[in-house]
Amino acid sequence: ARLNVTTFINQVIDRFDMSTKNQNIQFKRKLPDKSISVSGDRDKLTQLLDNILSNAIKYSPEGGTITCSLKPEKERVVISVKDEGVGIPKENVGHVFDRFYRVDKARSRNLGGTGLGLAIAKEIAVAHGGNIWVSSEWGKGTTFSFSLPYEEDVVNDYD
Ligand code: ATP
Ligand code: MG
Repeated sequence: ARLNVTTFINQVIDRFDMSTKNQNIQFKRKLPDKSISVSGDRDKLTQLLDNILSNAIKYSPEGGTITCSLKPEKERVVISVKDEGVGIPKENVGHVFDRFYRVDKARSRNLGGTGLGLAIAKEIAVAHGGNIWVSSEWGKGTTFSFSLPYEEDVVNDYD
């Protein structure tokens, strides 16, 4: 189905915003005014963004800021989630999309998880004709981004 990505992102962030009050996370949104639509499976795309946002929260310090941005490019939109968390060491960053891969087993054990979230996120991005990537600086923070093919808005037939 066609979906308005701006509205979609806002809805997903709103849901996390309500459930992270105790960790004091601040959410910043950098979304364009103009409406942008993509076609895709709403449930799958929700799972994709959920997996990335839940990691950003899990690896953020108390009071950290998470910035979500949406950038339309020529033929794709890029959605990015930037955190101020622990970061990922250079030698591990190439593996985070592998199934069951977790950086620093000891550190992540008490945070819980199976190491499948990003493998699933990648599968969903690729199935939609997009891609997913990460840039991270150890100790400073991490940005996960994914792209989706972009369709210029012609009609307002969102679901
Ligand atoms: P699951 O998502 O299955 O509950 P998980 O969060 O450990 O478990 P992934 O989401 O696949 O698994 O992430 C893989 C690993 O990448 C994580 O264990 C963590 O070490 C690292 N990682 C992912 N996102 C971040 C982030 N925002 N900051 C720092 N490290 C991260
Ligand atoms: Mg995860």
